[in-house]
Amino acid sequence: MTTSFEPGAPARAAGSIPLSVPEIRGNEWEYVKECLDTGWVSSVGAFVDRFEQDMAAYVGTKHAVAAVSGTAALHTALLVAGVLPDDEVLVSALTFIAPANAVRYAGAWPVFIDAEADHWQMDAKKAISFLEEECEWRQGELRNKTTGRRIKAILPVHILGHPVDMEPLLAAARKYELAVIEDATESLGAKYKGRRVGHLGDIACFSYNGNKIITTGGGGMIVTDNEAWARKAKYLTTQAKDDPIEYVHHEIGYNYRLTNVQAAIGCAQMEQLDNYIAAKLRIAAAYTEQFRDLPGLTPMREAPWAESIFWLYTILLDNEAQGKGSRQLMHYLAERGIQARPLWQPLHQSPAYQSSQSFQCTVAERLNRVALSLPCSTGLTTDEQARVIKAVRDFCGQGLR
Ligand SMILES: *Cc1c(COP(=O)(O)O)cnc(C)c1O
Repeated sequence: MTTSFEPGAPARAAGSIPLSVPEIRGNEWEYVKECLDTGWVSSVGAFVDRFEQDMAAYVGTKHAVAAVSGTAALHTALLVAGVLPDDEVLVSALTFIAPANAVRYAGAWPVFIDAEADHWQMDAKKAISFLEEECEWRQGELRNKTTGRRIKAILPVHILGHPVDMEPLLAAARKYELAVIEDATESLGAKYKGRRVGHLGDIACFSYNGNKIITTGGGGMIVTDNEAWARKAKYLTTQAKDDPIEYVHHEIGYNYRLTNVQAAIGCAQMEQLDNYIAAKLRIAAAYTEQFRDLPGLTPMREAPWAESIFWLYTILLDNEAQGKGSRQLMHYLAERGIQARPLWQPLHQSPAYQSSQSFQCTVAERLNRVALSLPCSTGLTTDEQARVIKAVRDFCGQGLR
């Protein structure tokens, strides 16, 4: 008998298979011990510097600035990009809520843009329709015709390890003088037309929360080619200190620093990143191969112009009427000790965002009804994956091939 657990619970009970848990098997102990032995445990230190350098080198940007979380990184990036109170920012409707919250922390307003049906990312065509039909150029600024507010930035979220189709968004941003802030928190290592995500817009953010491809327990990073913006990001994340001796501050800053201990874990995790990505790709390929023939089930896809890292392997299951929908599968798996999870409530439907505008968000609603993420920890064993595959195939009435 395996232990069943509530869907969504972060349990790691004996015999159960969690959705996605970290792997700590490299130099983490050694590097953390070095921090403890030398006393460099707090917000400056050699590992913070190294982690920033490693990330900039990996993503391909000139600069990287560590932060305490991905959400703090997003908040900082919005401020650095010049987003002001009462501005508006185009945000993906189908995403974890953090980027919308960061927009509100800056005093600005999100406008939610629908997902496209094939890869579930921000729909560039709809984003452009919104800019062209719902906004107007007035005295050197783009204004939302409904709210009268200035549109200042686009915040595409590369969800689930797959990039957004960036070229049309970047062209529109150039045309309307908008900043592009990438939320790359779920897609470290993914590529768009050969270029790493995080190096496509003006500034980008990563997260090292426990469920991301690499983790520091909690943490984030801001990356950019813009030196002035990088300096400003460092300044804002360290309490905007202008004179560290006399404690003079010209602005209100934040305590958004990552500690040296967390950065030490991050440096060790970076050494494993290629292995983790290889594991995610292996897991995704096996699922896709085994699910290919199941009626009503759509495996996760990769666009021809994309190299996804398949961060969170997700399927669509569309047979609610026959009792075979995504939520029914979730409960069926939970009874067998297998954790699965739907995608996020689309943000335009979130009670927290009832006062925000949204644009044609019908695809996001459908995806929310039919999507389910399956176990895909980098340490998932072949036996564990076979159990998940068998359970999904049994549920769909096909059995093992
Ligand atoms: C994880 C995540 C973040 C930020 O996460 P933190 O937990 O603050 O590090 C932001 N956006 C998306 C889409 C995420 O999945």
